[in-house]
Amino acid sequence: MRSLTLVFLAVVGMAGCGGERDLAMASKGEHAMNDGIQKSDAEWREELTAEEYHVLREKGTERAFTGAYHDEKTPGVYKCAGCGEPLFSSEAKFDSGTGWPSYYQPVSDEAVMTETDTSYGMRRTEVMCRKCGGHLGHVFEDGPKPTGLRYCINSVSLDLAPKGES
Ligand code: FE
Repeated sequence: MRSLTLVFLAVVGMAGCGGERDLAMASKGEHAMNDGIQKSDAEWREELTAEEYHVLREKGTERAFTGAYHDEKTPGVYKCAGCGEPLFSSEAKFDSGTGWPSYYQPVSDEAVMTETDTSYGMRRTEVMCRKCGGHLGHVFEDGPKPTGLRYCINSVSLDLAPKGES
């Protein structure tokens, strides 16, 4: 009987640890420190293709009109190519004519985070996946209604899950 009690306590104890970890991961950071996934550079290099690594982890940019999604019209959800988090809906996608997939809003404000980017002599607002910190692209204030925003995103940073598939 005593050993049964000990087993029970051990199981409850493990569940408690799991719950605490989940709570800690759910708390939102104030700055551009991503929320969930912390991986070493070596781990990212192993998981991602060379192109994905360059864009997501080195803030690279794919050449205009060369990506998989700039002209994509299939209904669905565009997920982060780094971590699988849903980021943009096809419903918010529009043809910007820039050669990069463009959206007027993310699926939620929590899905992405932004930071001022002054590289290449420009002042731009970088967009990153909040969960894994992966670089997605930039957001500009010349988008269509209803937001007036244009999220200019690299196809390489995205994986489209067509509607009805997950
Ligand atoms: Fe991500």
